[in-house]
Amino acid sequence: MTNDIKQLSTPVEEFPQKLEKPQDIGFVFDIDGVLLKGKKRIVEATDTINYLSKNKIPFILLTNGGGMTEEKRIDFINKTLQLNEYPIHKDQLIQAHTPMKTLIPHHKRVLVCGGPNDDVREVAENYGFEDVIRPIDIIRANPTIWPYHMFSDEQIKNWGKDPKISKVDVDNIDPNENLPIDSVLCFNDSRELGTEIQLILDLLNSENGILGTRRKFKSNKPTIPILFSNNDFLWSNEFKQPRFAMGALKIAVLEIYEKINGEKLDQLTLGKPTKVCYDYAHHILIDWRKIMLGEKTADNICLPQLNDPPIKSPFKKVYMVGDNPESDITGGNNYNWGTILVQTGVYQDGDFERNPETSRPSLGIFPNVKDGVMAALKLNGLA
Ligand SMILES: [Mg+2]
Repeated sequence: MTNDIKQLSTPVEEFPQKLEKPQDIGFVFDIDGVLLKGKKRIVEATDTINYLSKNKIPFILLTNGGGMTEEKRIDFINKTLQLNEYPIHKDQLIQAHTPMKTLIPHHKRVLVCGGPNDDVREVAENYGFEDVIRPIDIIRANPTIWPYHMFSDEQIKNWGKDPKISKVDVDNIDPNENLPIDSVLCFNDSRELGTEIQLILDLLNSENGILGTRRKFKSNKPTIPILFSNNDFLWSNEFKQPRFAMGALKIAVLEIYEKINGEKLDQLTLGKPTKVCYDYAHHILIDWRKIMLGEKTADNICLPQLNDPPIKSPFKKVYMVGDNPESDITGGNNYNWGTILVQTGVYQDGDFERNPETSRPSLGIFPNVKDGVMAALKLNGLA
């Protein structure tokens, strides 16, 4: 352990009882490895969240995960952390794809990629996208568009929309049966990598977003915009080695696009550690503070525009609490927030020695979320 990393290893028994101006300090928590470990709770998280809610210290959750509605994930978190008295509100959660809501006014008919089963169709429709197309709809209407797909007949029948409704029938002579698509939104890790790579590149190089067409020029600008909800290259499951995540799909799309166009693809990536994600989170934290103080009603959270940082922040200090130096800590440091690294997730002792370039937390490394939050409160004279 290098000496520029402070470590507080004494476990904290109880939180302080008297706080001054608690609403001037804000916390942003990663979920996996900080509040939860897989589907189980990290016990110290329950005390921490209850304490912050009870004392009206604003906080939000910021994850690169997704694939389900905010409501479903918050229900799961509240149950798992046993937050019966002070449940977390769904508007306090930002998943990787949550900021895509802001695109609704200009992106009516969207190709939504990734996610388990057909779940992200519900997420996108729930956000308010008018016409959500999924890769399986396109396969159902045009089986030869990617003949190597692995969807079963049953999945195509159950999840794929009827071509009369989806209007993506490339071979139909009626142009109204193959309507243009406005953008490609990669919500979550791909479950059909080959299909998605082919369909995404077809659309990025199409004429006006119409499937089955090919534009006659090369450009770094795709015909329709593409957004990736995060840049995570790897994730871990029960397998011995980390597995490919959305970042792998992005690399494939970028490489092939460049092969076709001779230029790098102009795209937008959300999620930690990008500034666009932290700007969005900052807006939500400011708004949640207003709701907490009764200046605004719940269920009326703001909808900030992408790449639009808050002009003024009421916070003296905001702390990002995470287990991943690459996403949580890098993003927090770049954004001038205080950063707290916990030892309950992906970070392992010795990681900084093995990879000296790894981002270091400004406040320190702590055994768990409770110790980290306690240290931040103490530092600000709140404990
Ligand atoms: Mg994490």
